[in-house]
Amino acid sequence: MNSDQNKIRNFCIIAHIDHGKSTLADRLLELTGTVSKREMREQMLDTMDLERERGITIKLQPVRMEYKDYTLNLIDTPGHVDFAYEVSRSLAAVEGALLLVDASQGVQAQTIGNLYFALEQNLTVIPVVNKIDLPNARVEDAKAELVKLLGCAPEEVLLASGKTGAGVPEIIQAVIARIPPPAGRASAPARALIFDSTYDEFQGVIAYVRMVDGALRRGEQVETIATRAQGIALEVGSFRPQRVTRDSLQTGEIGYIVTGLKDIDEVRVGDTIAPHGSAASGVAPLPGYKEVRPMVYAGIFPKSADLYEKLRECMGKLKLNDAALMFEPERSPALGFGFRCGLLGLLHLEIVSERLRREYDIPVVTTTPSVAYRVTQTDGATSVIKSPSDLPNPTKIAKIEEPWVRVDVVVPEAFLGGVMRLAGEKHGIYKNTEYLSADSAGRRAILHYDMPLAMILVDFYDRLKSASSGYGSFSYEFLDYREADVVRLDIYVAEEIVEALATIVYSDAAADSGRKIASLLKETLSRQMFEVKIQAAVGGKIVASERLSAMRKDVTGYLYGGDVTRKRKLLEKQKKGKKKMMARGRVEIPPEAYLAVLKRK
Ligand code: GDP
Ligand code: MG
Repeated sequence: MNSDQNKIRNFCIIAHIDHGKSTLADRLLELTGTVSKREMREQMLDTMDLERERGITIKLQPVRMEYKDYTLNLIDTPGHVDFAYEVSRSLAAVEGALLLVDASQGVQAQTIGNLYFALEQNLTVIPVVNKIDLPNARVEDAKAELVKLLGCAPEEVLLASGKTGAGVPEIIQAVIARIPPPAGRASAPARALIFDSTYDEFQGVIAYVRMVDGALRRGEQVETIATRAQGIALEVGSFRPQRVTRDSLQTGEIGYIVTGLKDIDEVRVGDTIAPHGSAASGVAPLPGYKEVRPMVYAGIFPKSADLYEKLRECMGKLKLNDAALMFEPERSPALGFGFRCGLLGLLHLEIVSERLRREYDIPVVTTTPSVAYRVTQTDGATSVIKSPSDLPNPTKIAKIEEPWVRVDVVVPEAFLGGVMRLAGEKHGIYKNTEYLSADSAGRRAILHYDMPLAMILVDFYDRLKSASSGYGSFSYEFLDYREADVVRLDIYVAEEIVEALATIVYSDAAADSGRKIASLLKETLSRQMFEVKIQAAVGGKIVASERLSAMRKDVTGYLYGGDVTRKRKLLEKQKKGKKKMMARGRVEIPPEAYLAVLKRK
């Protein structure tokens, strides 16, 4: 290892959402002189408008800092579970992690979730109690919780404030002293791990890489080992945090490579970039990442049909920058051509549709997400159901399974009862309870449950917050698939099935959901010349129904006086007209009505 490599430290900041990662990153940028006071703005590394508005980090963001004669590469990460894949990829590119805990909040569920990730990657973890400037900071409690969680010595826990800058120099000292330098071999064939990427209209795919072994120079011919795409490193460089070009990327460094490749499918996150000819001469690809598994599926459709082609192109570009997004074409009789998307959760869906609107100027409609069910047919074939219409005929289904997750809830002891009731209601299977600290007043517990993912998607977060006066937090991780008692709920309007409104529901909730959908439709459908039946059915059996009464257009209104016969004749005619329409049986379902159902909460 040469002296330069010895002076590199790669680390990321992990924490529960809002515990101050991006703000601490600001202070690190300032203290290392990476960004001048003049250029500085709050949460500098949240570069997307969407991040700045919402005050949350969505994307990982690397930055290279110089401190004395050290190079410090930091990756800021998101805190929300829906973006855990961003975190796991960041962790694979570094040797250490700062684990922040808000001094007024203590350890929260995602503190624990992220810590597990870091330990799985064998990272050196530096615990930090942050926001010590807060008037309600309980520094000693938070410290005790970290000591218990990590099994470390109390002296190892640093105290800091990303707001005032207190303790930040000590954090840098600890990064240098405790985190080992990168271990790659400078003399080995060059291999760079792609941990993220973006697309530039002119430069093509820009890969964010961790140089694991060897070096890559500007102008060098390169290839991706898994997809065997060939390109040229048109530019290489590092993030400060904007891209700054350099001559080469050396072993252990984090930076970017402008590949010139325009085909976005050729540069995949987790693939290895190496010099041209490496694959042929037997250079092994780097291990890459755990394959990301969609947790939920939802439809994304362009608001106007002529945007479909553009949407297809932009989904591809977005996927490049959002490796957890999956999609395939889908046609809906209601919404036209669009995509069925695999996502990590509801916030993920919201962010994807928002990014499409803002970054690519495509307004989209999203449909109610459902979890990824797995169906085993009587002939033994299994498949993942991405949409209710994929569900085979009930006679062919041997079993349907749903994803289960391991849920960790962190909550003050006083609220245990309420939280346990909630978890029970949500079909949670209780595993065990641990305590974060020993002190009896305000002791906080970690409750572990196994729970169907579908139960969490709906309103678990809000319910947990109200069951714990806002103190509870939760985090979850995919566990396995387990058999589920679910059925397909069909919707009929004027006795005709409306394919696009079918959903998969728990059988004991079918009637309830049916009623909800039927009444939503009743509210949104406009009245017809005839009475319209709105029904929900399971396997042909009606479980809920509503009637939308006929509109009675006053066809006689313009007649003066008492011309009764003529009046009656008109009414007769109207009746016939209704019959005719009934016979045709079609009720135009306007987009608003579909939306009301497809987007219902
Ligand atoms: P992240 O979600 O972990 O990246 O957290 P942010 O850095 O976005 O901070 C979340 C909120 O906490 C923001 O309103 C910050 O201004 C505030 N904050 C962050 N660090 C501190 C701190 O050390 N002290 C105080 N008082 N507030 C802080
Ligand atoms: Mg942040």
